[in-house]
Amino acid sequence: MGNIGETALEIDLSALEHNFNLLKTTLKKETKFLAVVKSFAYGSDMVAVAKKLESLAVDYFAVAYVKEGVLLRDAGIKSPILVLHPQPINFGELIERCLEPSLYSPRILRTFLKTAQEKRQTNYPVHLKFNTGLNRLGFWENDVDYILEQLKDTNEVKIASVFSHLAASEDKNEQEFSLNQIESFKKTAAELSVKLGYAPMRHMLNTSGILNYPDAQFEMVRSGIGIYGYGNHPEIDQKLKSVASLKTIISQIHKIEPGESVGYNRGYKSDGYRTTATLPIGHADGISRQYGNGKSFVSVKGEKAPIIGNVCMDMIMIDITGIDCKEGDEVLIFGENSSAENFANTANTISYEILTAISQRVKRKVID
Ligand SMILES: *Cc1c(COP(=O)(O)O)cnc(C)c1O
Repeated sequence: MGNIGETALEIDLSALEHNFNLLKTTLKKETKFLAVVKSFAYGSDMVAVAKKLESLAVDYFAVAYVKEGVLLRDAGIKSPILVLHPQPINFGELIERCLEPSLYSPRILRTFLKTAQEKRQTNYPVHLKFNTGLNRLGFWENDVDYILEQLKDTNEVKIASVFSHLAASEDKNEQEFSLNQIESFKKTAAELSVKLGYAPMRHMLNTSGILNYPDAQFEMVRSGIGIYGYGNHPEIDQKLKSVASLKTIISQIHKIEPGESVGYNRGYKSDGYRTTATLPIGHADGISRQYGNGKSFVSVKGEKAPIIGNVCMDMIMIDITGIDCKEGDEVLIFGENSSAENFANTANTISYEILTAISQRVKRKVID
């Protein structure tokens, strides 16, 4: 691969395929796979990622909002799309674009039924979300009778699935809590099936859940971070490949004398003769100010170069003293052998946040 030439996020679709296949090997043959592609496919390229996964026969997609599902339909994605967190104002568009809502509260159920009725739908696929301990979205377990009451004598919707979400799937110390969530989900799903007279699909596991609670696959699993190359899991992380690599180049090199400073507010003060490089990427591109002032490193010719001084809107400065490099050379912020998880950890955050923070100003370069 040639020099990237500017700041760009490389999206490696062969790494995506590798991760998808690897995660599938941890599942029973009949378990369906839902790929979570919300927030631009975790900051990468939602359409490129969804098209690739559709070609690999993924079973379902999930997005957070209706607008994201519309982008997928506009791009020609035909697979079922679950919208995890829709709002009533968008229910009309959701139905027009054949998106499938998560119904997560009495208010949402009632408003959706009303829209489905107005649009003369029959058996429109919907998904019931139950809260089993995360306390974020979802019906209470004792809402089952209320739900059935609402659905009685209606044929506007059909429950395609019932699902819940673990609060601490990556944390082995919370295993007991997670197992309790799984048990109560099982009970609720069973009660619902009996009372409905048919058995919707059940799904509960995100990526860490897939790796830590293989007995709770039910009929489908939902993976986001894993398909992008991160599993919150030491062994699996070795085998997953980073889909997104953030690269840039050296715009200019400066020789700094003792006592000189670099950047706004003189954030960095030199105690010796240093060589610094200025890079065309800043907090407006998603590298927040927490990464500055020596906390985080980028990689130049395979060597670590600390980000010095304050992160600017459009630039960062790095210390390249002793590294054999020149203006125009490529710099790796994260990806490949320098994971987004490690980079995020230097600023006390997680891979999810840095990946989804890379702003739309940064060019996406898809490699198949
Ligand atoms: C985002 C999300 C996921 C994906 O979680 P990962 O940890 O990225 O695999 C799964 N389920 C729900 C409800 C989500 O919001």
